[in-house]
Amino acid sequence: MNTSDLNREACYRAVLAKDARFDGKFYTAVLSTGIYCRPICPARPPKLENCLFVPSAAIARQLGFRACLRCRPDAPYFRFEERHGCGYHLEAALYPAL
Ligand SMILES: [Zn+2]
Repeated sequence: MNTSDLNREACYRAVLAKDARFDGKFYTAVLSTGIYCRPICPARPPKLENCLFVPSAAIARQLGFRACLRCRPDAPYFRFEERHGCGYHLEAALYPAL
């Protein structure tokens, strides 16, 4: 997936809904804060005009954004699940092919 495949409106809807199906598919770099987030971030969603949707955390970092401390887009996946205690249920929803 490259950046042009990311549909801004679809991404933003996922962010507003904290849609776990999009977790790992894109990251939201927030121009107003300099922070990047996962779609499921518990923080208040930024305005659409402040959002830059990128396909990977590495790209967000390259662009100079810092990882959000709430949704930890830079952390290994399992750590987040441990912290939130919703482990396997969410994992199954995210990776149905596994
Ligand atoms: Zn976040």
